[in-house]
Amino acid sequence: MTSPSPASIDLIRRLIAFDTTSRESNLALIGFVQDYLKKLGIASELVFDETGKKANLFATLGPTDRPGLMLSGHTDVVPVDGQEWSTDPFEVVQKDGRLYGRGTCDMKSFIAVALALAPEFLQARLKTPIHFAFSYDEEVGCLGVRRLIAELAKRTVRPLACIVGEPTEMKVIRGHKGKLSVRGHVRGFECHSSLAPKGVNAVQYAAEAVSYLARMARRIAETGPFDPAFDIPHTTVHTGVIHGGTALNIVPKDCSFDFEFRHLPQDDPKALFTEVKRFAETELEPQMHRVHPDTGFSWREISSFPGLDTDEDAEVTQLAKAASGGNATSKVAFGTEAGLFDAAGIPTIICGPGNIDQAHKPDEFVSLEQVALCESFLRRLVERVSAQA
Ligand SMILES: [Zn+2]
Repeated sequence: MTSPSPASIDLIRRLIAFDTTSRESNLALIGFVQDYLKKLGIASELVFDETGKKANLFATLGPTDRPGLMLSGHTDVVPVDGQEWSTDPFEVVQKDGRLYGRGTCDMKSFIAVALALAPEFLQARLKTPIHFAFSYDEEVGCLGVRRLIAELAKRTVRPLACIVGEPTEMKVIRGHKGKLSVRGHVRGFECHSSLAPKGVNAVQYAAEAVSYLARMARRIAETGPFDPAFDIPHTTVHTGVIHGGTALNIVPKDCSFDFEFRHLPQDDPKALFTEVKRFAETELEPQMHRVHPDTGFSWREISSFPGLDTDEDAEVTQLAKAASGGNATSKVAFGTEAGLFDAAGIPTIICGPGNIDQAHKPDEFVSLEQVALCESFLRRLVERVSAQA
């Protein structure tokens, strides 16, 4: 096994030490990266959120007057609250060929390796530039990167292609599902439970909508559409949260339920959402209104991101395949920022160190072998890109 360079390991340690749980500011980490790049003579641009407490960082290595290859990662991590860690999650512990810590796998190691290789990239006298794009708030709905994409869209020179370094065990992933998540709310009409027919039971009507969603899920699983490249080869529908009622002897006035569509890139989640809304409108609300007019369903989209479906023969896929030394590509169920880049006209694939199975869990880790593979992948990638120009 080849081992990673001390520079990569050191940078992984440094990045993990910043607690960038999505609810926290990421500016300390961004400032560290900015200083690091500045010492190499590379300027960084920051794109802040509306509070000024979080920022995306965008930097270009090589010429700035032409489009380049973008290496992208998110700087935020999921919370460690309630998780049983064997060691301090914000201090990297090296053990048995692995680096443990929150974000080692998802996905600070990719960012660290890209930064560690920056001096080499500069020495390569790039004709095609390399861009670094490091975002905030990915884990809470791919929020931060949207501002960066909007900023890039205003420019005449935009990235040629993008590699998102989410954990794929350094396999080239050219597709992922999209997501639409929604909160449904039922407004009922309260009364004493002994007079139940005179009230409108919000919990029961919500339950009818939830079971309609479950029927939709079964129908899609049976009839498709299907894409066998995905582990679960069809769009899924799932209700994850329900809140309603206050006491058994009161007909409940309010009930809310959160559900999501994890859809194949070619499926339209809005059409599925419209279907459940129509069911509520035509089947449930008329019954509710017969008892009380001031009742019914309302809906709020919580978050959404598009799926990714990059062609097998797209240039970026070919480039990543050549750099990874593998011939196969596949698709994954988890969402990433890749779909947003792609929707903005930047052809994108996903390839990064670590396994998604280790993400979001206590004792998250990345193996040293994966870090070393990521180094050689990025080296070969940059060799090819600079040879192309
Ligand atoms: Zn991630």
